Amino acid sequence: MNIKDVNFGILGMARSGLAAAYKIRELGGHPFISEKKPEKDINDPQKIRSDFNCEFGGHSDRLLDCEIIIISPGIPLDIPILTKAKEKNIKLISEIEFGYLIKHPGSKIIAITGSNGKSTTVSLIHHILQTAGFKSVLAGNIGTAFTSCKIEKEGIDVIVLELSSFQLELIDKFRPDVAAILNITPDHLNRYHSMEKYALTKFNIFKNQKEDNLAILNYNDEYCKRFAKQILAVKKYFSLESKTDIFYDGNSIISGDNIISIKRSSIRGPHNIANIMASILSVSPFKIKNEIIEEALTTFVSLPHRLEIVAEINGIKFINDSKATNTDSVKYALQSFDGPIRIIMGGAGKGEDYSILIPYLKKHAKKIYLIGDARYKMKKAFGNIVDIELFDDFEKSINTAFSEAEKGDNIVLSPACTSYDMFNNFEERGNKFKQILLGLKK
Ligand code: ADP
Repeated sequence: MNIKDVNFGILGMARSGLAAAYKIRELGGHPFISEKKPEKDINDPQKIRSDFNCEFGGHSDRLLDCEIIIISPGIPLDIPILTKAKEKNIKLISEIEFGYLIKHPGSKIIAITGSNGKSTTVSLIHHILQTAGFKSVLAGNIGTAFTSCKIEKEGIDVIVLELSSFQLELIDKFRPDVAAILNITPDHLNRYHSMEKYALTKFNIFKNQKEDNLAILNYNDEYCKRFAKQILAVKKYFSLESKTDIFYDGNSIISGDNIISIKRSSIRGPHNIANIMASILSVSPFKIKNEIIEEALTTFVSLPHRLEIVAEINGIKFINDSKATNTDSVKYALQSFDGPIRIIMGGAGKGEDYSILIPYLKKHAKKIYLIGDARYKMKKAFGNIVDIELFDDFEKSINTAFSEAEKGDNIVLSPACTSYDMFNNFEERGNKFKQILLGLKK
């Protein structure tokens, strides 16, 4: 594609939209950017105005003069301007598709999606590759936009991409060398309305793969099993329960003749064993020695806000799992500790059925502290299974949990909801949790 000759439109001025815009400019093109938010809500609008043709506060028909529109993840595809664009046969793509079209052909792509474990898995894959001496770049949903990297240049061995279902909605030719679905459990149902629709969007990751590519799937996942037939690539399965291409025997991870010890692994819990297995399969085309993988598992620094043990006060542990924004991740959080759990849950809901947590809460939770918009719906879903209290203040819920806790208890922030009703993002929620703990420590 000759970027200079294409009239690009960009919908949305968030991280990936701006990254695509700057890349197009770098490659000699002149994109037009359109943003729904008013100028006052945008960071440094003067700079954007001076660098691009753009509009704020809504999408005008100027976008309809474009040949290709790059759409930021999260923007609903049925908004009026996109309906008109579809009628005019304007090509709508995601920033991931655009990145794929311009990337250097010598760089391989490992793409990972799933409801949970994506960030942990891509970070681990990137770390294993780097430990083995490969030039690896980590991008996508994890925070660095794909097109903000120098992907058009020669020299990158592997681009490791974390992909959300939103990013997979508008791909056309995107064909990763290795692609994996970690799991498909209820999430974002307010956008997709059905689990089938959500699962099929995730399956787009395999859509253009051919026989010489590798597809990695979770053998124990209902949707991975159900839709696997449509995959053309070589399929490999991981499992926590069955002897598949890679599995865990209670001590080590076994894959064919390879036995990889996870004794010294820096990340724990069954969900992380699944993430490790998916990571090992993902790097299998690169023929990395077992010793190097074991070394990488030991030196991997786990990510904050995912079952992060942040403090111990008077024998009471505090765990920040702010990234747990759906019920499946909370299910694993509840199973990850020996002692009883006082769990802080709630926030902005995503249309999930919280009652699936009941057996785990019954087994592991001493008390549930509910916060945020979802607190009433959660209270209704849980009934009287264990002691439940509702709070309209985050700090008060933590202080109350601490005042009621006994030695050996775990106070776990694992919300099963997004943070957007009270915070800008999950990091801010997790950091506020840590800050409140500092006060308690004193
Ligand atoms: P994602 O990027 O998909 O949101 P993260 O690695 O950031 O995944 O983890 C998000 C939450 O999910 C954390 O609470 C974490 O403990 C939990 N988690 C991580 N891996 C898995 C998994 N394989 N299955 C279920 N939950 C997981």
